[in-house]
Amino acid sequence: MKLAVLTSGGDAPGMNAAIRAVVRRSIFDGIDIFGVSHGFHGLIEGSIERMGLSSVADIIHRGGTILRSARSPEFFTSHGRERAIAQLRRYRIEGLVVIGGDGSLRGGLALARLGLPVAVVPATIDNDMFGTDICIGFDTATNTVIQAIDRLRDTATSHERIFVVETMGRHAGFLALTAGLAGGAETILVPEVAWDMAALCQRLLRGLERGKAHSIIIVAEGAASGADIARRVGDVTGLDTRLTVLGHIQRGGSPTAQDRVLGSRLGHRAVELLLLPDAAHMVGLQAGFDVSVRLHEVMDQRPCLDQRLYDLAQVLAI
Ligand code: ADP
Repeated sequence: MKLAVLTSGGDAPGMNAAIRAVVRRSIFDGIDIFGVSHGFHGLIEGSIERMGLSSVADIIHRGGTILRSARSPEFFTSHGRERAIAQLRRYRIEGLVVIGGDGSLRGGLALARLGLPVAVVPATIDNDMFGTDICIGFDTATNTVIQAIDRLRDTATSHERIFVVETMGRHAGFLALTAGLAGGAETILVPEVAWDMAALCQRLLRGLERGKAHSIIIVAEGAASGADIARRVGDVTGLDTRLTVLGHIQRGGSPTAQDRVLGSRLGHRAVELLLLPDAAHMVGLQAGFDVSVRLHEVMDQRPCLDQRLYDLAQVLAI
Protein backbone atom coordinates (compact mmCIF):
# COMPACT_ATOMS: atom_id res chain seq x y z
CA MET A 1 0.00 0.00 0.00
CA LYS A 2 1.09 3.59 -0.65
CA LEU A 3 -0.01 6.63 1.33
CA ALA A 4 0.97 10.31 1.36
CA VAL A 5 0.93 13.08 3.93
CA LEU A 6 0.86 16.88 3.60
CA THR A 7 0.47 19.93 5.84
CA SER A 8 -1.70 22.79 4.63
CA GLY A 9 -2.89 26.28 5.58
CA GLY A 10 -1.65 28.02 8.74
CA ASP A 11 1.12 26.09 10.49
CA ALA A 12 0.70 24.95 14.09
CA PRO A 13 3.21 23.60 16.65
CA GLY A 14 2.80 19.84 16.86
CA MET A 15 2.35 19.31 13.11
CA ASN A 16 5.79 17.69 13.05
CA ALA A 17 4.78 15.21 15.74
CA ALA A 18 1.78 14.29 13.57
CA ILE A 19 3.93 13.88 10.43
CA ARG A 20 6.34 11.70 12.40
CA ALA A 21 3.49 9.51 13.66
CA VAL A 22 2.01 9.13 10.16
CA VAL A 23 5.38 8.14 8.70
CA ARG A 24 6.41 5.77 11.48
CA ARG A 25 3.02 4.09 11.83
CA SER A 26 2.96 3.55 8.06
CA ILE A 27 6.44 2.04 8.01
CA PHE A 28 5.51 -0.11 11.02
CA ASP A 29 2.73 -1.61 8.87
CA GLY A 30 4.93 -2.04 5.78
CA ILE A 31 3.21 0.84 3.94
CA ASP A 32 5.21 3.03 1.53
CA ILE A 33 4.77 6.60 2.76
CA PHE A 34 5.33 9.76 0.72
CA GLY A 35 5.63 13.35 1.90
CA VAL A 36 4.12 16.17 -0.16
CA SER A 37 5.79 19.55 0.38
CA HIS A 38 3.93 22.90 0.37
CA GLY A 39 0.43 21.53 0.88
CA PHE A 40 -2.07 21.30 -1.97
CA HIS A 41 0.15 23.56 -4.07
CA GLY A 42 2.98 21.01 -3.88
CA LEU A 43 0.53 18.21 -4.60
CA ILE A 44 -0.56 19.89 -7.85
CA GLU A 45 3.07 20.48 -8.79
CA GLY A 46 4.11 16.93 -7.91
CA SER A 47 6.47 17.83 -5.02
CA ILE A 48 6.23 14.30 -3.67
CA GLU A 49 9.04 12.31 -2.05
CA ARG A 50 9.31 8.93 -0.39
CA MET A 51 9.87 9.22 3.35
CA GLY A 52 11.83 6.90 5.59
CA LEU A 53 12.30 6.51 9.33
CA SER A 54 15.13 9.02 9.33
CA SER A 55 13.10 11.64 7.38
CA VAL A 56 11.23 12.30 10.61
CA ALA A 57 14.12 11.88 13.06
CA ASP A 58 14.77 14.78 15.41
CA ILE A 59 11.58 16.73 14.60
CA ILE A 60 9.16 15.96 17.44
CA HIS A 61 10.31 18.98 19.43
CA ARG A 62 10.28 21.45 16.53
CA GLY A 63 7.57 24.01 15.77
CA GLY A 64 6.39 24.63 12.20
CA THR A 65 6.26 21.80 9.69
CA ILE A 66 9.14 20.05 7.93
CA LEU A 67 6.85 19.49 4.93
CA ARG A 68 6.28 23.27 4.68
CA SER A 69 2.82 24.68 4.20
CA ALA A 70 1.16 26.86 1.59
CA ARG A 71 -2.12 28.25 0.45
CA SER A 72 -3.16 27.17 -3.03
CA PRO A 73 -5.70 29.24 -5.00
CA GLU A 74 -5.42 26.74 -7.89
CA PHE A 75 -6.70 23.99 -5.65
CA PHE A 76 -10.04 25.82 -5.40
CA THR A 77 -10.60 25.01 -9.09
CA SER A 78 -11.67 21.58 -10.36
CA HIS A 79 -8.78 21.68 -12.85
CA GLY A 80 -6.32 22.10 -9.95
CA ARG A 81 -7.85 19.25 -7.98
CA GLU A 82 -7.78 16.96 -11.01
CA ARG A 83 -4.10 17.76 -11.47
CA ALA A 84 -3.57 16.83 -7.82
CA ILE A 85 -5.33 13.49 -8.27
CA ALA A 86 -3.29 12.81 -11.42
CA GLN A 87 -0.04 13.34 -9.47
CA LEU A 88 -1.16 10.88 -6.81
CA ARG A 89 -2.03 8.33 -9.51
CA ARG A 90 1.41 8.77 -11.02
CA TYR A 91 2.90 7.48 -7.75
CA ARG A 92 0.06 4.94 -7.23
CA ILE A 93 -0.77 6.60 -3.93
CA GLU A 94 -4.00 5.21 -2.50
CA GLY A 95 -4.75 7.52 0.39
CA LEU A 96 -3.82 10.93 1.78
CA VAL A 97 -3.38 12.36 5.28
CA VAL A 98 -4.10 16.11 5.35
CA ILE A 99 -2.83 17.93 8.44
CA GLY A 100 -4.31 21.42 8.76
CA GLY A 101 -7.20 23.66 9.70
CA ASP A 102 -10.72 24.23 8.51
CA GLY A 103 -9.76 25.23 4.93
CA SER A 104 -7.51 22.18 4.61
CA LEU A 105 -10.43 20.01 5.74
CA ARG A 106 -12.50 21.41 2.86
CA GLY A 107 -9.65 20.69 0.50
CA GLY A 108 -9.47 17.13 1.86
CA LEU A 109 -13.20 16.66 1.37
CA ALA A 110 -12.95 17.93 -2.21
CA LEU A 111 -10.38 15.18 -2.92
CA ALA A 112 -12.46 12.56 -1.11
CA ARG A 113 -15.36 13.48 -3.40
CA LEU A 114 -13.14 12.56 -6.33
CA GLY A 115 -12.78 9.07 -4.83
CA LEU A 116 -9.51 9.42 -2.92
CA PRO A 117 -9.45 8.01 0.63
CA VAL A 118 -8.62 10.95 2.94
CA ALA A 119 -7.95 11.34 6.67
CA VAL A 120 -7.76 14.90 8.03
CA VAL A 121 -5.77 15.64 11.18
CA PRO A 122 -7.02 18.88 12.82
CA ALA A 123 -4.19 21.34 13.44
CA THR A 124 -4.82 25.02 14.08
CA ILE A 125 -3.94 27.37 16.91
CA ASP A 126 -7.46 28.84 16.59
CA ASN A 127 -8.93 25.52 17.82
CA ASP A 128 -12.02 26.19 15.72
CA MET A 129 -12.75 22.79 14.21
CA PHE A 130 -15.97 20.93 14.91
CA GLY A 131 -15.80 17.25 15.87
CA THR A 132 -12.75 17.41 18.13
CA ASP A 133 -12.35 18.87 21.60
CA ILE A 134 -8.90 20.18 20.75
CA CYS A 135 -6.71 20.82 17.70
CA ILE A 136 -2.94 20.39 17.41
CA GLY A 137 -1.13 23.65 18.18
CA PHE A 138 -3.75 25.19 20.43
CA ASP A 139 -2.08 24.25 23.71
CA THR A 140 1.34 25.56 22.65
CA ALA A 141 -0.11 28.83 21.35
CA THR A 142 -2.15 29.28 24.53
CA ASN A 143 0.98 28.86 26.63
CA THR A 144 2.84 31.34 24.44
CA VAL A 145 0.12 33.94 25.02
CA ILE A 146 0.13 33.23 28.77
CA GLN A 147 3.88 33.77 28.94
CA ALA A 148 3.44 37.11 27.20
CA ILE A 149 0.66 38.12 29.61
CA ASP A 150 2.81 37.16 32.62
CA ARG A 151 5.65 39.33 31.38
CA LEU A 152 3.40 42.25 30.58
CA ARG A 153 1.83 41.96 34.01
CA ASP A 154 5.23 42.58 35.65
CA THR A 155 5.80 45.78 33.74
CA ALA A 156 2.12 46.82 33.95
CA THR A 157 2.27 46.64 37.76
CA SER A 158 5.48 48.62 37.96
CA HIS A 159 4.05 51.49 35.93
CA GLU A 160 0.34 51.23 36.86
CA ARG A 161 -0.67 50.86 33.27
CA ILE A 162 -3.37 49.19 31.24
CA PHE A 163 -2.09 46.69 28.72
CA VAL A 164 -4.13 45.66 25.70
CA VAL A 165 -2.92 42.36 24.22
CA GLU A 166 -4.17 41.42 20.75
CA THR A 167 -4.17 37.70 19.99
CA MET A 168 -4.88 35.74 16.82
CA GLY A 169 -8.44 34.50 16.27
CA ARG A 170 -10.23 36.09 13.34
CA HIS A 171 -13.39 34.06 13.76
CA ALA A 172 -12.93 32.26 17.05
CA GLY A 173 -12.04 33.36 20.57
CA PHE A 174 -10.80 30.05 22.03
CA LEU A 175 -7.19 31.21 22.21
CA ALA A 176 -8.02 34.62 23.71
CA LEU A 177 -10.47 33.15 26.20
CA THR A 178 -8.31 30.27 27.43
CA ALA A 179 -5.14 32.37 27.64
CA GLY A 180 -7.06 35.27 29.20
CA LEU A 181 -8.55 33.03 31.87
CA ALA A 182 -5.23 31.31 32.60
CA GLY A 183 -3.39 34.64 32.56
CA GLY A 184 -5.87 36.33 34.90
CA ALA A 185 -6.86 39.04 32.42
CA GLU A 186 -9.37 41.62 33.64
CA THR A 187 -11.23 41.76 30.34
CA ILE A 188 -11.45 39.32 27.42
CA LEU A 189 -12.97 40.35 24.09
CA VAL A 190 -13.87 37.57 21.67
CA PRO A 191 -15.75 37.60 18.35
CA GLU A 192 -18.51 35.36 19.71
CA VAL A 193 -19.62 37.65 22.57
CA ALA A 194 -20.95 41.21 22.19
CA TRP A 195 -19.20 43.82 24.31
CA ASP A 196 -19.68 47.43 25.22
CA MET A 197 -16.97 50.07 25.48
CA ALA A 198 -18.69 52.10 28.23
CA ALA A 199 -19.13 49.01 30.42
CA LEU A 200 -15.53 47.97 29.75
CA CYS A 201 -14.20 51.36 30.86
CA GLN A 202 -16.45 51.49 33.93
CA ARG A 203 -15.11 48.14 34.99
CA LEU A 204 -11.53 49.34 34.60
CA LEU A 205 -12.21 52.49 36.63
CA ARG A 206 -13.92 50.46 39.37
CA GLY A 207 -10.83 48.27 39.60
CA LEU A 208 -8.64 51.31 39.85
CA GLU A 209 -10.76 52.77 42.66
CA ARG A 210 -10.29 49.50 44.53
CA GLY A 211 -6.53 50.02 44.25
CA LYS A 212 -5.73 47.69 41.33
CA ALA A 213 -2.25 48.52 40.09
CA HIS A 214 -2.88 47.48 36.49
CA SER A 215 -5.31 45.88 34.08
CA ILE A 216 -4.84 43.47 31.21
CA ILE A 217 -7.31 43.42 28.34
CA ILE A 218 -7.10 40.50 25.90
CA VAL A 219 -8.59 41.12 22.46
CA ALA A 220 -8.99 38.43 19.82
CA GLU A 221 -8.27 40.09 16.46
CA GLY A 222 -11.76 39.16 15.24
CA ALA A 223 -13.45 40.99 18.13
CA ALA A 224 -11.80 44.38 17.59
CA SER A 225 -8.53 45.98 16.64
CA GLY A 226 -6.23 46.12 19.65
CA ALA A 227 -4.99 49.56 18.56
CA ASP A 228 -8.54 50.87 18.49
CA ILE A 229 -9.33 49.47 21.93
CA ALA A 230 -6.12 50.90 23.42
CA ARG A 231 -6.83 54.36 21.99
CA ARG A 232 -10.46 54.43 23.10
CA VAL A 233 -9.75 53.07 26.60
CA GLY A 234 -6.99 55.65 27.01
CA ASP A 235 -9.30 58.46 25.87
CA VAL A 236 -12.24 57.47 28.07
CA THR A 237 -10.34 56.59 31.26
CA GLY A 238 -7.36 58.92 30.95
CA LEU A 239 -5.19 55.98 32.01
CA ASP A 240 -1.80 55.16 30.51
CA THR A 241 -2.72 52.43 28.02
CA ARG A 242 -0.24 50.36 25.96
CA LEU A 243 -0.77 47.89 23.16
CA THR A 244 1.02 44.61 22.40
CA VAL A 245 0.11 42.74 19.20
CA LEU A 246 1.43 39.20 19.59
CA GLY A 247 1.14 38.30 15.89
CA HIS A 248 3.05 35.36 14.48
CA ILE A 249 4.95 34.74 17.72
CA GLN A 250 1.83 32.75 18.64
CA ARG A 251 2.43 30.26 15.84
CA GLY A 252 6.02 29.39 16.61
CA GLY A 253 7.94 27.61 19.32
CA SER A 254 8.58 24.10 20.49
CA PRO A 255 5.29 22.22 20.96
CA THR A 256 4.13 21.45 24.50
CA ALA A 257 3.91 17.86 25.75
CA GLN A 258 0.17 17.98 25.10
CA ASP A 259 0.61 18.96 21.44
CA ARG A 260 3.31 16.35 20.89
CA VAL A 261 1.14 13.61 22.38
CA LEU A 262 -1.94 14.83 20.48
CA GLY A 263 0.01 14.97 17.20
CA SER A 264 1.34 11.46 17.81
CA ARG A 265 -2.09 10.03 18.65
CA LEU A 266 -3.95 11.66 15.78
CA GLY A 267 -1.27 10.98 13.17
CA HIS A 268 -1.25 7.32 14.16
CA ARG A 269 -5.04 7.16 14.07
CA ALA A 270 -5.17 8.75 10.61
CA VAL A 271 -3.11 5.89 9.15
CA GLU A 272 -5.37 3.33 10.87
CA LEU A 273 -8.36 5.01 9.24
CA LEU A 274 -6.83 4.83 5.79
CA LEU A 275 -6.49 1.07 6.20
CA LEU A 276 -10.30 0.86 6.30
CA PRO A 277 -12.47 1.18 3.19
CA ASP A 278 -14.13 4.53 2.27
CA ALA A 279 -12.04 6.79 4.48
CA ALA A 280 -13.30 10.37 4.25
CA HIS A 281 -12.89 11.31 7.88
CA MET A 282 -11.34 13.71 10.32
CA VAL A 283 -9.68 12.20 13.37
CA GLY A 284 -10.06 13.95 16.70
CA LEU A 285 -10.23 13.73 20.44
CA GLN A 286 -13.56 13.67 22.27
CA ALA A 287 -13.72 13.29 26.06
CA GLY A 288 -10.18 11.90 26.00
CA PHE A 289 -10.82 9.25 23.34
CA ASP A 290 -9.53 9.10 19.75
CA VAL A 291 -12.50 9.37 17.42
CA SER A 292 -13.18 9.76 13.72
CA VAL A 293 -16.00 11.82 12.20
CA ARG A 294 -17.12 11.96 8.58
CA LEU A 295 -15.79 15.02 6.73
CA HIS A 296 -19.09 16.05 5.19
CA GLU A 297 -20.74 15.96 8.62
CA VAL A 298 -18.29 18.41 10.20
CA MET A 299 -17.54 20.61 7.22
CA ASP A 300 -20.10 23.39 7.74
CA GLN A 301 -20.21 23.23 11.50
CA ARG A 302 -18.45 25.49 13.94
CA PRO A 303 -17.62 24.60 17.53
CA CYS A 304 -19.24 26.88 20.12
CA LEU A 305 -17.18 28.87 22.56
CA ASP A 306 -17.74 27.49 26.04
CA GLN A 307 -20.00 30.13 27.57
CA ARG A 308 -19.35 28.72 31.06
CA LEU A 309 -15.64 29.35 30.64
CA TYR A 310 -16.36 32.90 29.50
CA ASP A 311 -18.69 33.48 32.48
CA LEU A 312 -16.06 32.04 34.81
CA ALA A 313 -13.45 34.46 33.49
CA GLN A 314 -15.89 37.32 34.09
CA VAL A 315 -16.60 36.23 37.67
CA LEU A 316 -12.94 35.78 38.55
CA ALA A 317 -12.00 39.15 37.09
CA ILE A 318 -14.53 40.93 39.33
P1 ADP B 1 -6.41 26.38 7.14
O1 ADP B 1 -6.35 24.95 6.73
O2 ADP B 1 -5.35 26.74 8.12
O3 ADP B 1 -7.81 26.80 7.54
P2 ADP B 1 -6.78 27.79 4.57
O4 ADP B 1 -8.19 28.19 4.87
O5 ADP B 1 -5.90 28.82 3.97
O6 ADP B 1 -5.99 27.25 5.84
O7 ADP B 1 -6.85 26.55 3.57
C1 ADP B 1 -5.68 25.91 3.12
C2 ADP B 1 -5.84 25.47 1.68
O8 ADP B 1 -6.89 24.50 1.58
C3 ADP B 1 -6.25 26.56 0.69
O9 ADP B 1 -5.17 27.32 0.23
C4 ADP B 1 -6.84 25.72 -0.45
O10 ADP B 1 -5.81 25.21 -1.26
C5 ADP B 1 -7.50 24.58 0.31
N1 ADP B 1 -8.95 24.85 0.46
C6 ADP B 1 -9.55 25.65 1.36
N2 ADP B 1 -10.89 25.69 1.19
C7 ADP B 1 -11.15 24.91 0.13
C8 ADP B 1 -12.35 24.53 -0.58
N3 ADP B 1 -13.55 24.98 -0.22
N4 ADP B 1 -12.23 23.69 -1.62
C9 ADP B 1 -11.01 23.21 -2.01
N5 ADP B 1 -9.86 23.53 -1.38
C10 ADP B 1 -9.91 24.36 -0.34
